[in-house]
Amino acid sequence: MDVALAIADLLKTPEKKLENFTVADNQCNMDSLLSELERMKQKSEWLSRINDLHGRLAGAVDMNSMLEAFSVWLMPFVEHDLLGYNHIERQRRHMFCSSHGPDRRRVLKVAEKTFAYVKEQDDSIEWCVDDFWVRVWTVDSRQANGRLLLVRHGEKIDFEEVKMIAEALDVLSEPLHRALDYEDLFEQVRRDTLTGLANRRVFEERIPPLLSGAERHDRKVTLCSMDLDKFKQINDKLGHAEGDKVLQKVSATLADMVRGSDILVRMGGDEFILVLPETDLLAANKLAQRITEAIDRLEIYSSPNEKMGISIGLAEWTPDLSKEEWMQKADELLYQAKNTGRGRTCM
Ligand code: GH3
Ligand code: MG
Repeated sequence: MDVALAIADLLKTPEKKLENFTVADNQCNMDSLLSELERMKQKSEWLSRINDLHGRLAGAVDMNSMLEAFSVWLMPFVEHDLLGYNHIERQRRHMFCSSHGPDRRRVLKVAEKTFAYVKEQDDSIEWCVDDFWVRVWTVDSRQANGRLLLVRHGEKIDFEEVKMIAEALDVLSEPLHRALDYEDLFEQVRRDTLTGLANRRVFEERIPPLLSGAERHDRKVTLCSMDLDKFKQINDKLGHAEGDKVLQKVSATLADMVRGSDILVRMGGDEFILVLPETDLLAANKLAQRITEAIDRLEIYSSPNEKMGISIGLAEWTPDLSKEEWMQKADELLYQAKNTGRGRTCM
């Protein structure tokens, strides 16, 4: 539209002015027309790039694929080694790094260092660490707690590049929030609401790949099936709310005792399952002892003489056992622990 007006303007040069029309006027009009055309061309290219970005982001649901899509889109215009996103309030941090090997470790270290430094109130920062140029933008201007970070090796991020990313962030902001919400939801359906532990769905999802990995690499996995002793009495004597608190306390105690690679699940009620990868029966038994002692130290009483304990069944997986048979074996051992006095482990 602007171009059409500029051309019309040029053609419409009033006849009364024509006698005074000089080569200089003509040149001047031509220059402004050309610069207007150039501006329109750039605008059209930008719209096409933004359109492409929308398309890429639409196909990404989680944060990692969202960042990857943004990084791939950005690369031809602004070369970079890493893109990172940190949401302070939701305590989420994601990185997408295109380098490999030692470079990758170095650039990730720089990104971690930057995120640790960036505080909520800092709007944007720019610095250089070990020849890595770093720049941070605030993504969400409403809440101002999302940060995008870009790291590039060897070359400063110039003004035009900073400006371009700032403009692209208007497009990125909404899909990023969508991805964060999606991840929250994904997380929620895998958590037990009362205790915050993983739920049965996590167990069902993670066990099959874990067992096939154990078979391939000939690794041990041990299942620890646990159930609180006489828990019903806590409910009956102290009330259901107190029973809930006990379940939370026990869950927090168990969660504190396991490694990141272990899978701790509340299967329902007062029943918990702990899957211990790369752990044989002997090592699992040591942990089981520590667990019974820790629950004992919680000193939870349903009545003055009735201290709550935990019973445990331990079963090591062997390739001839299906997941169900393995669980059944652990469950039978748990039953045996219950029947032989409770507060103990059978294996
Ligand atoms: P045992 O020693 O044989 O395990 O007996 P128990 O009293 O612990 O009873 P059992 O394990 O068979 O049953 C667990 C009880 O936990 C049954 C149910 O009333 C109670 N329960 C299940 N879910 C919840 C919950 O979310 N909160 C509370 N407060 N109680 C629950
Ligand atoms: Mg019980």
